[in-house]
Amino acid sequence: MGLTLGPVKASPQTQLRLLELADLDAELARLDHRKRGLPEVAELARLEARFSELKDNLVATNTELGDLAREQSRAERDVEQVRTRIEKDRARLDAGQVSAARELASLQSEIENLHRRQGDLEEVVLDLMERREVLEGRQAELATERDSLGGEMATVTARRDAAVKEIDEQAAKASDQRANVAAEVPADLLALYDQIRKSKGVGAAMLRAGRCEGCHLSLNAADLNVIRASAPDEVVRCEECRRILVRTPESGL
Ligand SMILES: [Zn+2]
Repeated sequence: MGLTLGPVKASPQTQLRLLELADLDAELARLDHRKRGLPEVAELARLEARFSELKDNLVATNTELGDLAREQSRAERDVEQVRTRIEKDRARLDAGQVSAARELASLQSEIENLHRRQGDLEEVVLDLMERREVLEGRQAELATERDSLGGEMATVTARRDAAVKEIDEQAAKASDQRANVAAEVPADLLALYDQIRKSKGVGAAMLRAGRCEGCHLSLNAADLNVIRASAPDEVVRCEECRRILVRTPESGL
C-alpha cells in the first residue's frame, strides 16, 4: 500500500498550523483527563458514599428508638395498671371487706401474683431503658461522624473546586488559542483534521526523521520517496495511523 494523498491541498505554512492545533488538542485532552482524575473527585465519592451510609444508619436508629420508646410507654402503662390493681386489692383487704378464709387466701394470692407481674414488667421497662441508652449512644456517635464527615466533605469540595477552576482557566486559554489557530486553517483541511481527531484523539503529527510522531512508526523508503516527490501542498496521511503527516525541515526527506 502506498501513501494516501487526499483531495485536500494546503500550503506548507497552513499544514504547520495543524501541528499547533494538535499540540493544543493534546493539551486540552490532558487537562480534561486531569480534571476527571483529580484525587479529590475520588475522595469525594468515597466520602459521599460513607455519608449516605451514615444517613441510612441514623434513620434506622431513629426508627428503632421510636419503637423502643413506644414499647417502654406500653410497659409502663402495664406496670401502672398492675399497681392500681394491687392498691385496690389492698384497700379491700384493709377495709376488712373480705372475711371468708378462702376468699382472703385467694385475694392474698392474687396480690402476690400481681407483685410478681409488676416485678416482671418493671424488668421489661429497665431492659428497654438500657437498650434505648445503648442506641442513643450509637445515635450520638453516628451524628458526630456525620457532622465531621460533612466538614471533611466541605474541605475536599473546596479543594476540588479550586483545582477545577485552575484547570478550567487553563482549558479556556487553550480553547481560545485553538480557536485562533483554527480560524487560520481552511475549512476543508480543518474538517479533515477534526474528523481524524475524533477517531484518533490527535489529527496531525509531524514527520520527523522519517518517522510518524503520531504512531512512532518509521516510514519505508518507498513511502518516503512518494512524499519527496509530492508537491508541498499535498496533504499526506500516515498509512499506519491515518493522521495527517506534516512535513518540516526535520522530516529527513
Ligand atoms: Zn502514524
